[in-house]
Amino acid sequence: MLLDETLDHYELSCELGKGGFATVYEARRKADGLLVACKMIDRKKLEQANAHHYPSYGNHRHVLPSSRSTAMFERLNAEITIHHQVKHRNIVELLNYFYDDKYVYLILELCSHGDLERYLKEKKTLSESETQTIVKQVVDGLLYLHNHGIIHRDIKLSNLLLSETFEVKIADFGLAKKIPLTREQTNETICGTPNYISPEIASRTPHSFATDVWSLGILIVTLLTGHPPFDTDTVHGTLNKVTHEIYELPTTFSEEAQDLINSTLKKNAELRPNIIEIRDHPFFSKDFSRSSQSNNFKFASWGPA
Ligand code: ADP
Repeated sequence: MLLDETLDHYELSCELGKGGFATVYEARRKADGLLVACKMIDRKKLEQANAHHYPSYGNHRHVLPSSRSTAMFERLNAEITIHHQVKHRNIVELLNYFYDDKYVYLILELCSHGDLERYLKEKKTLSESETQTIVKQVVDGLLYLHNHGIIHRDIKLSNLLLSETFEVKIADFGLAKKIPLTREQTNETICGTPNYISPEIASRTPHSFATDVWSLGILIVTLLTGHPPFDTDTVHGTLNKVTHEIYELPTTFSEEAQDLINSTLKKNAELRPNIIEIRDHPFFSKDFSRSSQSNNFKFASWGPA
């Protein structure tokens, strides 16, 4: 149930991060002292934005004022509508939203340890054990989304946040799409950042839930090596590698890790495992406690919700 709130109900403090049209602040709800994240989306920037390169969003109920309804505004409408429908321990909760003349405000569950991009920058690379712990939680969140007919379409380090107890939470539903479960394939224009883009999006062929599975493969390689597998100096170079499936994995990776990655980074989306098959992959049940890999990381251990 949404509360009838305005910015006056919150006390803003430090800046937590910046996105394309938004700045995110830590905030305290005056009524009960709850610490939250307040994403302030600049309405002017949003209205002026050219949205040609963004995908369509389907028909969503309008939760925002539609006086100047541009494509970007439609996208934000879709983001809020989809995000507001979901509730899972591995998904950042959208607690409330409201707007004034200048901004649209999203009140989000606070993830006080920031995003995984920053975490990886500090640690350079992660062990297979730590990667297992992190990715298991992303898979759990994605399993929930896919079960509800939602494709996230922008799984990447900066959209994976860390809670106070180092639980991993999927954020940013700006590119998410809800589709009828009976009709899997969607036909879209290019979305996502080049490093994480899947061949079916790069070559503009139909894609669906398998897009998130591809991004999981990119995520695993990035966590283990510190670099996305298709990284080059140019967008064109990366897209070329993606469409021709050109990547190499270090031979030091375990058999389970190699098998999981190779299965997710299949150019043909139909050959990729679905999210249930990913969850059941041996990589996630491998016991790293007796391997030489250190276990001195901070992540909350994964378990049933
Ligand atoms: P955009 O959709 O414009 O890219 P994001 O939602 O990704 O914006 O937010 C930008 C950055 O702000 C994130 O990468 C993260 O560092 C920070 N951030 C976003 N939401 C939260 C949150 N709930 N808790 C803590 N930090 C957040």
